[in-house]
Amino acid sequence: MQMSAVETSISNDDFSDIFDIETSSGLSQDCIKRILPICNFNDTTCYSDTSCTVCLQKIKNGQVGRWLPKCKHIFHVECIDGWLMRHPSCPICRTHVS
Ligand SMILES: [Zn+2]
Ligand SMILES: [Zn+2]
Repeated sequence: MQMSAVETSISNDDFSDIFDIETSSGLSQDCIKRILPICNFNDTTCYSDTSCTVCLQKIKNGQVGRWLPKCKHIFHVECIDGWLMRHPSCPICRTHVS
């Protein structure tokens, strides 16, 4: 007995899955909210000279900042959240936040 035409079914693996790993190097929004405190800039007495290194703007009265407890650097919430979703470290000193 002889086998005739052997069926070759090569499954095309989806290589785009590999790129999903890259996004997991940052923090999830949930994780950011859980581990990092927020500070309201209603009273600028202690933060009068604070500027956000992500957008290079001053953090003004009435804005909300996020504070990295390990290195004590402060940024706008929107700025640091966007950054941390891609890099799990401080934009200034590269201290790991988690
Ligand atoms: Zn900013
Ligand atoms: Zn820092």
